[in-house]
Amino acid sequence: MKRLLTFMIGLALCGTMTMAAKDASAQNFLVIGGGSTTGVYYQVALNICKIVNDKLGGQGYNCIGRPALGSVFNIRSIQRGLLNYGVAQSDWVWAAANGKKNWEGKPDKGLRTVFTVHPEAVMLVTRKDTGIKTIADLKGKRVNIGNPGSGQRGNAEDVLRLNGIDKDKDIKAEGLQQNEANRALVDKKIDAFFYTIGVPWGGGLEIANSTAIDIVPVDTAPIKKLVADNPFYVMTKIPGGTYKGVDNDVPTYAVKATFVTGEKESADSVYTVVKTLFENLDTLRNSYANFKNLQPKDMLGGLSAPLHPGAMKYYKEKGWQ
Ligand code: GLU
Repeated sequence: MKRLLTFMIGLALCGTMTMAAKDASAQNFLVIGGGSTTGVYYQVALNICKIVNDKLGGQGYNCIGRPALGSVFNIRSIQRGLLNYGVAQSDWVWAAANGKKNWEGKPDKGLRTVFTVHPEAVMLVTRKDTGIKTIADLKGKRVNIGNPGSGQRGNAEDVLRLNGIDKDKDIKAEGLQQNEANRALVDKKIDAFFYTIGVPWGGGLEIANSTAIDIVPVDTAPIKKLVADNPFYVMTKIPGGTYKGVDNDVPTYAVKATFVTGEKESADSVYTVVKTLFENLDTLRNSYANFKNLQPKDMLGGLSAPLHPGAMKYYKEKGWQ
């Protein structure tokens, strides 16, 4: 019964998404894919849509921001015409555009960037009672590496592999979606999880208030080399005091959340959306903690696939390109 229900919900969702994509050219019916409801991508999708609907609703624009499975899912869904826009990590945008990882040998030539949003840190979160202090301590533990389709899954796989941990043999790897993983950690059903997420992360604050958490450093020599070798990674620190009980800075590495679309999206529509968003950047900044420092100069940096011509047109007009 549960399976049937899931299937039917899935079918209904696919229906909506297909309809949305078909209607896109005629009515500017836009669907933006975010991430888990506990994350920041969903807030990107919701708050961008709110501005589009408020400012462009009268011109036939209708925007829906929806939860989705994350970076890989969003890029693939744009490729398949099921989403108009999505949010994705800069490392995955690069991999898709250059035919690496899940796109090995089959680059997504139609992927286009619009702007980058907030930085995201690779977080390895545990409870204090597990005694996990280093990546090596994960051996023998139950660890959520992220649901298929999420961006964090690739980061978790890299971190484990580069640190000599076989995800199939050395740990009990789980593929939970993040809102399930949050509860599973609190309920002691898992010992740790990886999540690549904006700082501060509201969902993390909630977990830290429910149980004593620790954040494990992700800055071993192989990680520093990974970062040095790839322009879309930077070393960063999760500032001490961000999460209850984690008082010292925790070193790790970071990516940038990127707002992406496909080449099929019309230049006029993308131009209109981008212009409206930048003209209302203060509204976006004030809509969620992770957006409060957004600056056009940073938002045009770190793009790891070609810019959409509609966005380019606006940036040229502004003298930003
Ligand atoms: N970085 C995660 C991903 O690509 C999502 C984080 C979020 O939802 O804010 O899947």
